[in-house]
Amino acid sequence: MIEREQLEMDVVFVGAGPANLAAALHLKNLIKEHDELIERGRRAGKPLGNLEIGIIEKGANIGAHILSGAVVDPIALRELMPDFLEQGCPVDSTVESDTFWYLTENRAFASPITPPPLKNHGKYIISLSKMCEWLGEKCEEAGINIFPEFPGAEIIYDENDRVLGVRTGDKGIDKEGKPKENFELGVDLLAKITVLGEGSRGSLAKQLMQRLNLNDGVEAQVFSLGVKELWEVPAGNFEEGKVVHTLGFPSDTQTYGGGWIYGMKNNIVSIGYVTGLDYKDPLIDPHAEFQKFKTHPKIAEILAGGKMLKYGAKTINAGGWHTMPKLYADGVLIIGDSASFLNGQRIKGIHTAMKSGMIAAETIVSAFDHDDFTSKTLRHFKEKIDGSWIYDELYAVRNFHASFQSGRWSALINGGLQFLSGGYAWGFMPIEHHVAGHERMEMLKDYDYQGDALAQRYPDLKFDNKLAFDKVTDVYYGAVSHNEDQPSHLHILDTEICATRCAEEYGNPCQRFCPAAVYEMEENAKTGRREIKVNFSNCVHCKTCDIADPYQIINWVTPEGGGGPNYKGM
Ligand SMILES: Cc1cc2nc3c(=O)[nH]c(=O)nc-3n(C[C@H](O)[C@H](O)[C@H](O)COP(=O)(O)OP(=O)(O)OC[C@H]3O[C@@H](n4cnc5c(N)ncnc54)[C@H](O)[C@@H]3O)c2cc1C
Repeated sequence: MIEREQLEMDVVFVGAGPANLAAALHLKNLIKEHDELIERGRRAGKPLGNLEIGIIEKGANIGAHILSGAVVDPIALRELMPDFLEQGCPVDSTVESDTFWYLTENRAFASPITPPPLKNHGKYIISLSKMCEWLGEKCEEAGINIFPEFPGAEIIYDENDRVLGVRTGDKGIDKEGKPKENFELGVDLLAKITVLGEGSRGSLAKQLMQRLNLNDGVEAQVFSLGVKELWEVPAGNFEEGKVVHTLGFPSDTQTYGGGWIYGMKNNIVSIGYVTGLDYKDPLIDPHAEFQKFKTHPKIAEILAGGKMLKYGAKTINAGGWHTMPKLYADGVLIIGDSASFLNGQRIKGIHTAMKSGMIAAETIVSAFDHDDFTSKTLRHFKEKIDGSWIYDELYAVRNFHASFQSGRWSALINGGLQFLSGGYAWGFMPIEHHVAGHERMEMLKDYDYQGDALAQRYPDLKFDNKLAFDKVTDVYYGAVSHNEDQPSHLHILDTEICATRCAEEYGNPCQRFCPAAVYEMEENAKTGRREIKVNFSNCVHCKTCDIADPYQIINWVTPEGGGGPNYKGM
């Protein structure tokens, strides 16, 4: 039997996103400060300079799996590193103008005032992937060990459910599950504290929440899917530093959705569309919604004569404060998007993810100082969050997404009332708050389904591969690759349901909600019936399938390390 290697560390961060990178760097800074104070006799306690800190990342390199808009509010970045600009933070542009457009099918109405939550003047347009790459370098310079191509596959617990660390994924297993020549068993990374910062719908965070019931007493999380392309457009089509947010076309009034266009340097435009994964109509296809968005005359005008450079898609946890799980347990903390720190009203989560990581770092220093890594000490994380600006920001918008579950108009009225009252106004709120998206999807019988969902829901949408791209072409622009000789990392727990109940009741919506053409219904030559085929190598790691499947039978687990999209520069 091959022995599994064990690596003992003090703190292991799972995922190299802004939350964990800020957490690890801040931890190093705090340790330095702590040790200096002890050395100068101004603080009691033991020096912590020898702590071993590691970050594991499933992508081939730091930033490879990072996808965002992105306009960043630099508040947390400034707290982490006041001279971030001098230290080379790769800011692309400064926001010079903000506009909000309401789109009807053929027209765009510019709002005379930009809704205050969408005011971004003076903030920065960035590639979050580039920013994470840079933060990763800063972490390495500070002595933090970074392990790309290391997916956290399992959480290691002791007999009392205390978290002892993570087991990384095995390498070199063929599609039948047998070891290949390059087989390598995953490593057990043991740590006194494990920090999960895996982003939206973290696969380990999901396991942990289920096992330790961390969601008890909180509302169901709700998610959206953001589909994005980077375009190079002719000079003069869209100014650098210009930010446009849209509402309306092509979403129907019952579906949460909106678009963005951000002007970057060198005539690059970040354009994308967000669709709430709590939509009712089973024929909705979020990728098609985005493609349709680009055909609006006002949007098509911006892209005219340009070319698409890159593609990506990722989910966003939109529920906010009321859907935040318990943030700690013995030996573990959850931060960033995995723990619902995103502000859905501003569609911003980078600054809150970073700040949650920095507060986690403060909690970790105090845990080492007291030599106690149980909930008794780690509970201070939540107390510190409650006393920080994160609370002020997220609590005030706690009802934002739930009000959209009653439709766009009630949401707009509610949104206004909530803004004026700091989140208290109720108006048209549904009685139940934040109903999980998969529970809201309606069955086909209500939709007079004709057998071709795209043709029925999007009759005018043509994938000309100039303005509107089909999924397979887009996946190519996401530079997605997985070794195909490995077991699928998309586990369908009961494929019989796909061929029978799901086909009949929902028309296999996975074919539509997946933005990467992973799921296909294909005729089985032997049985003559249509069965599910999973093209897992297309997967962009957005986690939509794990979230939106109405039967909750798709389980997303980490594939072999390094596989997935390459969002460098996105
Ligand atoms: C389309 C879109 C547009 C957005 N626009 C904006 C915006 O304009 N401004 C803004 O502030 N916010 C925006 N956000 C939100 C923002 O991107 C997130 O809030 C932020 O990235 C969250 O940071 P995080 O570190 O928690 O997670 P992520 O950024 O998701 O990082 C998680 C990292 O963990 C890795 N990982 C996951 N699981 C594992 C595992 N098991 N093992 C190893 N590694 C793992 C992932 O590969 C990834 O690198 C947007 C999000 C999306 C999707």
